[in-house]
Amino acid sequence: MVTRLYTHPIYLDHLTPPGHPERPDRLRAIERVLEDERFAPLDRQEAPCGDEAAILYAHPQAHLDKVRAAIPHEGLVRIDADTSASPKSWQAALTAIGAANAAVDDVFSGAAGNVFVAARPPGHHAEKTRAMGFCFFNTAAIAARHAQRRHGAERVAIVDWDVHHGNGTQDVFWDDPSVLYCSTHQMPLYPGTGGKDETGAGNIVNAPLSAGDGGDAFKDAFRTCILPALDAFHPDLIIVSAGFDAHYRDPLAELELTEQDFDWATAELMDSAARLAGNRLVSLLEGGYDLHGLAFSVAAHVARLMKG
Ligand code: ZN
Repeated sequence: MVTRLYTHPIYLDHLTPPGHPERPDRLRAIERVLEDERFAPLDRQEAPCGDEAAILYAHPQAHLDKVRAAIPHEGLVRIDADTSASPKSWQAALTAIGAANAAVDDVFSGAAGNVFVAARPPGHHAEKTRAMGFCFFNTAAIAARHAQRRHGAERVAIVDWDVHHGNGTQDVFWDDPSVLYCSTHQMPLYPGTGGKDETGAGNIVNAPLSAGDGGDAFKDAFRTCILPALDAFHPDLIIVSAGFDAHYRDPLAELELTEQDFDWATAELMDSAARLAGNRLVSLLEGGYDLHGLAFSVAAHVARLMKG
């Protein structure tokens, strides 16, 4: 089964202020590491531009209109304290959605066994009506709804191992038991949500970790919370919100994961996808701000996906 990779040069044109951690160099670092010979079998595809209507799967028209109106003709504008837009940000965000939805199409059609989407801006902090935390639209949430609308998926699971809680994804699916949202993240940390007691309609599983926790605590969260929840839910598709900022080198958080831990978690989710979801697994880049930690982690993640 082939592993497909979607990326696009437009992702480099979404600009952020100097010194901002969510920067184009993140994707350059990923591109460089994936140039290695061992990634030659990857099926590399240029991401298609998304359909604006797909934004409405997870957001009201007013949010779409507000973000579009905020995009500058030149320079940068701040959308919130840490979220900026540049002239090409709209097209980049739309192409991130296009890639995620194409990845869903691929795993349902059998064109790919699994897919990694190397896109920016990320999406998991975008709430139904609010851009925040470097995110405009919730790409993972839109892709989950796309699977339900286009491919008849009844149940979609989103597993989010970004070090920050995906408040946006939780917000979109808070009262929707057709989507399971599972997250491990450092707590307390931005954005402040993600407590164990936040359970939505019984479809939200938060497994918060503490500063200083490493691979053992991360694996324990998977073994005791996330993997059993996946088994009980029996999804038709697993979407990974794959942030790599829980890596020990990352400057934005204090978890101590290594690339081997991401390799382990990838293998576990591939096993779940094989048993429960016809192997269908789509992985979407979220955070990860140390360029070396990000590159090593993505390499471990993608190399494992290719063993599927
Ligand atoms: Zn993050």
